[in-house]
Amino acid sequence: MNDGELTTQELTGQARTHIADVAEPDCALHADVVAPFLNLRRAALADGIDLVPLSSFRDFSRQLTIWNGKFSGERPMVDAEGGAIEVDALSESERIDAILTWSALPGASRHHWGTDIDLIDRNAVPPGYRIQLTQEEFAAAGPFGPLAAWLESHAARFGFFRPFRGATSGVAPEPWHFSFAPIAEFARRRLTPAVLREALESAPLLGKEGVLERLDELHARYVAAIDLP
Ligand SMILES: [Zn+2]
Repeated sequence: MNDGELTTQELTGQARTHIADVAEPDCALHADVVAPFLNLRRAALADGIDLVPLSSFRDFSRQLTIWNGKFSGERPMVDAEGGAIEVDALSESERIDAILTWSALPGASRHHWGTDIDLIDRNAVPPGYRIQLTQEEFAAAGPFGPLAAWLESHAARFGFFRPFRGATSGVAPEPWHFSFAPIAEFARRRLTPAVLREALESAPLLGKEGVLERLDELHARYVAAIDLP
């Protein structure tokens, strides 16, 4: 524990000394986010919503696997509207932008901080249904429409907000992604281009040369520019 002041290793997902493992619901969060999250969850449960993170803390190597899988075309990629992208038809620089529409650079994921969670309602998942985290699922008629409406009304009271609303950030709107503002805002300001560069320089990142060449621009669009609380 370190009163919210994350080290550069923690900021970039290369350490998990700031993370606490939670048994129910099964997730991993910044130690100071556990209580606020459980309060949010309790309030949701009282309204019939079984609020759980589909994704919580994620480390650098996991994000690296996601990045390299998309860059190489092994993992499917979609555009901001959800349409399939043919990776082979894209230049390296275009691939970088296509990935960043939905996925962060390793070292720059807000999930590294333990403050950010992708939320679903376990009560609303139809039997055998595979959750994909799409706009349709969180639209009014989708299975998580009521969850989205509930969070819109209540999340802020518990300190949570949506950093990717499609207004300021280069990241596509993610109605499932919530962030604990008091700690995340501090982390965002500490994650400078220099900190990110240091994390990436020695990593086996596909497209690394192009990423490092454009790092200041990519940082400005996808890390610094979020939709503020
Ligand atoms: Zn997320």
